[in-house]
Amino acid sequence: GERRRLAASTGPGRTADGHGVELLLNIGSAADLGSGVDAEGVGLFRTEFLFLGRKDAPGFEEQVAAYEAVLRAVPGGKVVVRTLDAGTDKPLPFLGLPEEPNPALGVRGLRVGRLRQEVLDVQLDAVAEAARASGVRPWVMAPMVTTAGEAADFAARARARGITRVGAMIEVPAAALRADHLLRELDFLSIGTNDLSQYAFAADRQHGELADLLDPWQAGLLRLVAECARAGRAAGKPVGVCGEAAADPLLATVLTGLGVTSLSMSAPSLAPVRERLARTSLARCEANARIALDADDPAVARKAVAEETAAGH
Ligand code: PEP
Ligand code: MG
Repeated sequence: GERRRLAASTGPGRTADGHGVELLLNIGSAADLGSGVDAEGVGLFRTEFLFLGRKDAPGFEEQVAAYEAVLRAVPGGKVVVRTLDAGTDKPLPFLGLPEEPNPALGVRGLRVGRLRQEVLDVQLDAVAEAARASGVRPWVMAPMVTTAGEAADFAARARARGITRVGAMIEVPAAALRADHLLRELDFLSIGTNDLSQYAFAADRQHGELADLLDPWQAGLLRLVAECARAGRAAGKPVGVCGEAAADPLLATVLTGLGVTSLSMSAPSLAPVRERLARTSLARCEANARIALDADDPAVARKAVAEETAAGH
């Protein structure tokens, strides 16, 4: 009835039968927090904004101020900070990276540390200082992590600075397939479905002609998500989704059914996702996940899940 609808339009994410799914916000800077946060926190704080279009790297103090502003602005203090995701496909002149013939497969994300480790180390120093100054303990994750060895190295650098909640984005299929091993090194995972699709389907994420391959309802992508969620459950650690897939209300029921523990999206998607979950039972979410994993065509999956969910059984 009306009361239930109103109750579901704000507040924490829950299925109709009360299974919690944390609903979080993707932001690029403190400005995106606007007049308030209608979410349980920030699930993806993209820190690139500080670095874009600059001749020199932002200094330690400037970074501390930017990170501290976000940590202080989020009620409850749940903020997942993503370390710099740059590379030859998102070029930053001051990094001085060599040109590459195949930038999406080159030095980007955490791999920048292979050539310019100090840039990532200064960033971790600044996040740690912002945490100390604000009294808020952030979650910190690296983009483009590919192996458990890389995860271990990143975790060691972060923990050495007193950062206690360390994770990785899952954007590379090899990392999804080894999610269990990554979680031996890490406290959480966050699946970036935009890049995970690009790399799983060998299709440039900006290539309009290949949109069908990049459809987040593709079962090949969902199987990788399922593998991560399974590893998270086994380890008792959170595994979220922060790519565009999380913003589709029906797909949110599928992701919930696969076992992900949080969904992070831009602000306009929060209410529709929250409302859809509030009207869908966990059993329906799990049945939707089976339908989507079984379908060979993403459009067929979407239609079948829509029909079954509307029927409400
Ligand atoms: C992703 O790849 O899904 C993601 C959330 O990161 P970005 O879109 O910033 O690459
Ligand atoms: Mg990405």
